[in-house]
Amino acid sequence: MKNDMSRRFHTRVITNIIFSAMFACLVDLFLVTNLTMLGEYAVVQGKEGSLQAVFYHPGPVITLLYVLAGIATFSSAFLVLQKKSMDYITKLSTAIQNISEGDLNTTVEVVGDDEFSAMAANLNKMVEDIRRLMDKERESERTKNELITNIAHDLRTPLTSIIGYLELLSAPTSNMSPEMEKKYINITYTKAKRLEKLIEDLFGFTKLNYGKVSMKVTKVDIVKLLSQLLEEFYPNFMDKDLAYELQSNVPAKMINADGNLLARLFDNLINNAIKYGAEGKRIVVKIHATESIVTVSVTNYGYVIPKEELPLLFEKFYRVEQSRSSNTGGTGLGLAIARNIVDMHGGTIGVTSDLNGTVFTVRLLVDFDINKENFGNPGDRHEY
Ligand code: ATP
Ligand code: MG
Repeated sequence: MKNDMSRRFHTRVITNIIFSAMFACLVDLFLVTNLTMLGEYAVVQGKEGSLQAVFYHPGPVITLLYVLAGIATFSSAFLVLQKKSMDYITKLSTAIQNISEGDLNTTVEVVGDDEFSAMAANLNKMVEDIRRLMDKERESERTKNELITNIAHDLRTPLTSIIGYLELLSAPTSNMSPEMEKKYINITYTKAKRLEKLIEDLFGFTKLNYGKVSMKVTKVDIVKLLSQLLEEFYPNFMDKDLAYELQSNVPAKMINADGNLLARLFDNLINNAIKYGAEGKRIVVKIHATESIVTVSVTNYGYVIPKEELPLLFEKFYRVEQSRSSNTGGTGLGLAIARNIVDMHGGTIGVTSDLNGTVFTVRLLVDFDINKENFGNPGDRHEY
């Protein structure tokens, strides 16, 4: 392809040379014929010594003049024919100059299909790539700043009340009843625990996000893992007066996965279902296994998440407004962690929410191979 373009350009230059040479020859021929005739006429008229007569028997000076006229005609014709290419090269060089000065809005129109048009197309692509890269860089800088602001805010909130309660407890003038004291200590303890969870989540998330967690992939029975997890949640179900159900089309299913990470993934989903689906009275965990894929869905009922918020749930620190103001006390990292774990397993995660329930669906590969790209690129794997 590249050679083809280069050949096209060379062919055009050679054609232009041939055309210019032919044109120069024609002009020279015209000059020689006419001037010789003029000279002959002068000689016939008996004006031997006149200027025109010189052309009848041209000497070296006249011959040199003919040659010079030929060269001048050839050069002018060639320059005219090459003007388009020259203008294009000037355009390219100006564009390169602009780009080097930081003007990334520069583009060059792609004209024709020779080396220069290929160069223009490459230049446009390069500028586009640089622009995209810079946008990405800016976006990541913005997210980082947002992350730091969120962390600072989320750490400060419990810390402020811990400090407040400790000040109350330690005030020398306080004549607090022992019950009040106990209550305040309990609140302080709960807030400190919340702070601890937040820091743990944050560490967990950054570790996963920056690929610092090495996966230990083994054979995991997904049915057993989920039924054990649900059992562990038993006190929480009781606490919220929730019924739960585990449905599976197979009694057991071995898949290649990191058991601890999967437990963390489903822990987050079940935890959310309990936290946000308490009014729905029922939680259903469904496993559907085929030969190559296992689909696990966690469904809770009650609050319907607005459609426009669904794609945002997996963003770190995102919490639906209602749960932000309510007392569910999350940090908004659970689903971001879940998404990372799914990505690490080459799977997909999605959510739907309507009057039939809020359903988080995870699809995992039975034969997940850590060394292979599985469901496509991370980031393309989320379904809403
Ligand atoms: P964390 O899990 O870090 O303690 P969190 O539960 O607020 O905090 P995520 O698990 O990421 O964070 O969930 C993000 C938001 O998505 C929640 O705040 C909640 O608004 C909404 N959400 C998540 N799961 C459900 C669900 N099963 N039903 C309704 N809303 C949900
Ligand atoms: Mg959560």
